Amino acid sequence: MPTEPDGTMTGTGAGALLSILRDGRARTRAELTQVTGLARSTVSQRLDALLAQRWIVPADDAVSSGGRPAVAFAFNHGGRVVASADLGVTHARVALTDLAGTLLAERTADLSIARGPVATLGWVVDTVGALLAEIGTERSRLCGVGVGLPGPVEHATGRPVNPPIMPGWHDFPVPEWLEARLGTPVLVDNDVNIMALGEHRAARPEAEHLIFVKIGTGIGCGIISERRLHRGAQGAAGDIGHIRVTSAGDVICRCGNNGCLEAGAGGGTLAARLRAAGLEAAGSRDVVRLVRGGNLLALQLIRQAGRDVGDVLAALVNFFNPAAIVLGGDLAEAGEHVLAGVREVVYSRSLPLATQHLTISTSDLGDRAGVLGGALMVIDHVLAPAAVDRTVT
Ligand SMILES: [Zn+2]
Repeated sequence: MPTEPDGTMTGTGAGALLSILRDGRARTRAELTQVTGLARSTVSQRLDALLAQRWIVPADDAVSSGGRPAVAFAFNHGGRVVASADLGVTHARVALTDLAGTLLAERTADLSIARGPVATLGWVVDTVGALLAEIGTERSRLCGVGVGLPGPVEHATGRPVNPPIMPGWHDFPVPEWLEARLGTPVLVDNDVNIMALGEHRAARPEAEHLIFVKIGTGIGCGIISERRLHRGAQGAAGDIGHIRVTSAGDVICRCGNNGCLEAGAGGGTLAARLRAAGLEAAGSRDVVRLVRGGNLLALQLIRQAGRDVGDVLAALVNFFNPAAIVLGGDLAEAGEHVLAGVREVVYSRSLPLATQHLTISTSDLGDRAGVLGGALMVIDHVLAPAAVDRTVT
C-alpha cells in the first residue's frame, strides 16, 4: 500500500496514485500496477478519472500519434491555480501560483490591516480577480486560497484571536467570508507560520528543525519540527514577541505587559526612538533605510535589537535545538547588522552542542516567503490523497 514519506497510509485511491506520480516513484501504467499492487484494470480506471479532472496529463505522444492509450503520465501542475495573500501590518501582497508553487503573478500594496477585515479582505478578492484576468485564467481553475495574518490565528477555525494591532478582526470568520466570494476553500494562518513554511520548503528543505523569526513591526517565529509546521495546541506556538527581555526595561508593550521583546526591539519602537532624536522614521522600513545610509544611532539600535532577539533565541536554541535559524521581516533587510547582534548572543549563550552545526542567516526568499508559504499550505491541502479522491468520485 502506498505511503507518504513519513510512513502514513494514503490508501489506494486516485489520490494515492497521484502522489506516486508526483514524487516520481512511478510514471507508467506497469510501474503504477507494481508499486500499488492494484489490478491493471483498477489502475487504468483511476488514471482515467485523474485525466478527466486534469490532475495528470499523458507524458508520451502515444495518444496524438495513433490512438493507443497513453503509457506514461505526469502530474499536471499547471492544471489549477492557487492564490495566496500575505497581509502584514502596513503592507500586503497577493500572488497566484501553479500546483508546483511556481509564481505566476503578484501584486503588492501599502495597506493598513487596521482598516478592518471587510476592507482588507475585499481588496484581496478584487486583487485575486485582477491577477486571474492578468494571466488569462478562468476563476473555475482557482482551487484554494491561503491567507497569512499578522496576529494569532486559531488553527481549527482560521479566525484571528484578540490580535493586538488589528481592530475589528477578533473572531472574524475570515475563511467563510472569502469562500463566499471566491468560491474555493480558504486556509488561514499566522503570517510567520506561512513564512516559515515557504522558507523551509523552497530554500532549506534539508533542515529537519528550523526556526523562522520575523522581525518587523511585530516579532514572532514559525517553528518547523521534523519538517512540519508546529502550531501548538491552539495555533499560538512561536509568539516570542511577548517574552520578557531585561534590556526592554519597563517599556509598556501593546499587549499590556511591560518589558516584552517586541516593545524593546520591534520596528515601531526603533522608529519612535529615531524620531525622538529628530530623524524621520515612520516604521520598520525607515529604520532599515537609515541603517543602510550609515546613520550611527540607527546602527546602534538595530545591533541592540539583534542582541535582544538573540537573547530570546539563545533560550529557544537550548530548548528546541534547531539546525537553522532564519531571520525575515522588514528589519532583517538590515542584513549583517541585525545578524551580528543575534549571532553574538546566541553563540555565547547557547550550549555548545546545540550550536555546533547551527546556521543563522537571513531569509533567501525575502518578502516573498509569506505568499509562497501560503500557496504551499494550500497545495498540501488540495493534493492530499483524500482531497483528490473527493474530486474524482
Ligand atoms: Zn507584549
